[in-house]
Amino acid sequence: MALPFAILGVNQLEFTPTGTTLFIFLILLGSLFPDIDEPKSTIGRKFWFISWPIKLLSHILPFLKHRGITHLFLVPFSLSIVALYWGNIWLGGFALGWLLHTFGDLITIGGIRGYFYPFWSNRKIVLLPYVLRFYTGRGAEQILITFLVLLNGYLVYALVLI
Ligand SMILES: [Zn+2]
Repeated sequence: MALPFAILGVNQLEFTPTGTTLFIFLILLGSLFPDIDEPKSTIGRKFWFISWPIKLLSHILPFLKHRGITHLFLVPFSLSIVALYWGNIWLGGFALGWLLHTFGDLITIGGIRGYFYPFWSNRKIVLLPYVLRFYTGRGAEQILITFLVLLNGYLVYALVLI
């Protein structure tokens, strides 16, 4: 979901091809990272030596459960502040990817509990009305992902031609 935003951003920033590739890569990496708390996720499978300990510890430390601490608004927000203060566009890209991942989860049926921690820490936060939200991994989400992949493909194609 992060890639269309990345390419739009890159169009305005006019990076070199190497810089552009690295920037997009960092956004994608950032957008995968929050699911490090779930061993079955893409990133959790690659970094099983991090995701499994988190999973096991989550039985005694509830904030480590899936869609827990890594999915709070506070995390990408703090990263963005550091990136701005430091003037580091790469960390900014990583933070943007992270933020977009949480947006993606906010439009699922489950939403994210306590997203705006320390405010409303026990409220389930969602982005869309119920009928427009998704069950993770269900048909509607697959269609959305397919659509976004096609959109990304088109944007990369358009970017290369310009
Ligand atoms: Zn997630």
